[in-house]
Formats: sequence, C-alpha cells, structure tokens
Amino acid sequence: MRNLLELKDIGFSYHNLHGETRAIENISFGIGVGEFIAVVGPSGCGKSTLLSILAGLLTPEQGTVTVHNPDGSLRYPRVGYMLQHDHLFEWRSVYKNVILGLEIHHHMTEERLEYVEQLLRDYGLEKFRNKRPSELSGGMKQRAALIRTLALDPELLLLDEPFSALDYQTRLMVSADICRLIRATGKTVIIITHDLSEAISLADRVIVLSGRPARLKRDLPIHLTLLSDDPLAARNAPEFNQYFNTLWEALTSEEP
Ligand code: ADP
Ligand code: MG
Repeated sequence: MRNLLELKDIGFSYHNLHGETRAIENISFGIGVGEFIAVVGPSGCGKSTLLSILAGLLTPEQGTVTVHNPDGSLRYPRVGYMLQHDHLFEWRSVYKNVILGLEIHHHMTEERLEYVEQLLRDYGLEKFRNKRPSELSGGMKQRAALIRTLALDPELLLLDEPFSALDYQTRLMVSADICRLIRATGKTVIIITHDLSEAISLADRVIVLSGRPARLKRDLPIHLTLLSDDPLAARNAPEFNQYFNTLWEALTSEEP
C-alpha cells in the first residue's frame, strides 16, 4: 500500500506567556492511501494537536511530514475536517449549508454541484434540502455535515471526536452510519475517538497515544473475521474482546 503521508519524529509545543506546553513527542507513523485509522488517548494528551498538524494548520517543531504523490510532486493532499459539533448554520437551508465549503473556496463548478446532488440523493437528504438544520434528526445533521466535507473532494478526512456531542444510543447508530458512508468513498480517514469499541469496530488500525505529551504507545492493525460491513455487528466478532483488552492495556500501562 502506498503511503499518502508519513510522519517522522514529530514534536510540538505550545508557547505562551505562561511558558511551554509540550503536546507531541517523537511520533512516527505512515498513513496508507485508503486506510481508516483511529487514534485514541487520554483527554488533553495532544490528539487534536496531532490532527491540526496533519491538516497543515500547525507546523511541527521537530520532525517531518512527507508527502508521497505518485507523480513525485510535493502537493499536500486536500484535507477535509469534521469536528465534534456539526456546525451547521441555522440561518441557512440544508442545501445552502452543504455547499458552504464550495462557496467559500470558490469551487462552485458544475461537477462539484452535481456531486453534491448525488450525495443528497444517496444520503436521503434530497427532500430536506430546503429545511433548516434544526428540523433534521441528529443523524441527518451529521450526514449533511459529511456532504459539506465531501463536496470539496478531500483526499484525507480528519474527524475529531465527531460523535461525542451525541447521546450514547444516537452515537452508536450515527457513528456506524456515517463511517459506513465514509468507507464507501474509499477515502483515507483519521478519526479521533475516546471510545475503544468504536475504534475497533470502525478502523483498520488503532493508534494509542500516551498522556501528554502524546507519544505513540501502540499501533495495532485490526482484522475482524466478520462478513458484515456493519460496524455495530463488528462488535460481535470473536476477536473483538482480545483487541479491546490489548488496547485497554496499552492505554492504561505505565510509561517505560
Ligand atoms: P486532546 O485533543 O488530546 O484533548 P489537545 O491536542 O487539544 O488535546 O491539547 C493538548 C495540550 O495542549 C493540552 O494540555 C491543551 O491544554 C494544550 N493546548 C491546546 N491548544 C493550545 C493552545 N492553543 N495554546 C496553549 N496550549 C494549548
Ligand atoms: Mg481534542
């Protein structure tokens, strides 16, 4: 598998009047094209910082992020970002919300708009296009937020605890639904979650970070022997508990 990006010995600190906060220490891993990677770690350890580095919003102080384009160019992949809250604007219709990114980036081409129409149809939002976000269910809002993110045709999707604002039951349904839709796009995905079960059921690989400053504690490939591609059914795979225990141990183990 070709790597889309490769992180090597990444380090980062925040600097302000009160001093320095070391957030990332010596993190290295590759991100394969089409891979679905989950990142878990204690709250405040540096997960969002790592994502901001991958998004190109922060520049690492140490180490390198290498791009591997087939044509050898140094063009950074197009990044799509989905955050904790769907951030749909109530004063805009659902349709005006999903084309917001295209508007801001001046990408309102026929091709992009046709893609948005296709996603609205595929995701069952066609008949809600003129509604306001508050008229949608939690799941439909997340679908709308996903369409807005996909509209710009990102090559790398970054999701920062995208479902943590939802109650538990809704979250189970919505995360399974959204991740199934994302998988179908074949995009490269990095999702931050603090839910180990969610990570195992959704991802090809789970990366465990230590407490702050975040170091890489474990990089575990996940292979579930299950015919269904339903992330909820994945929780019944025979290997599920083993993975859970391995990750839990990595998460709670003392630093060497
Ligand atoms: P996580 O996403 O894992 O909860 P973050 O990456 O958001 O953690 O933050 C890691 C550490 O860096 C935390 O201690 C946080 O308080 C600190 N931090 C985050 N953003 C800033 C900032 N802009 N300025 C100073 N410190 C920050
Ligand atoms: Mg965070």
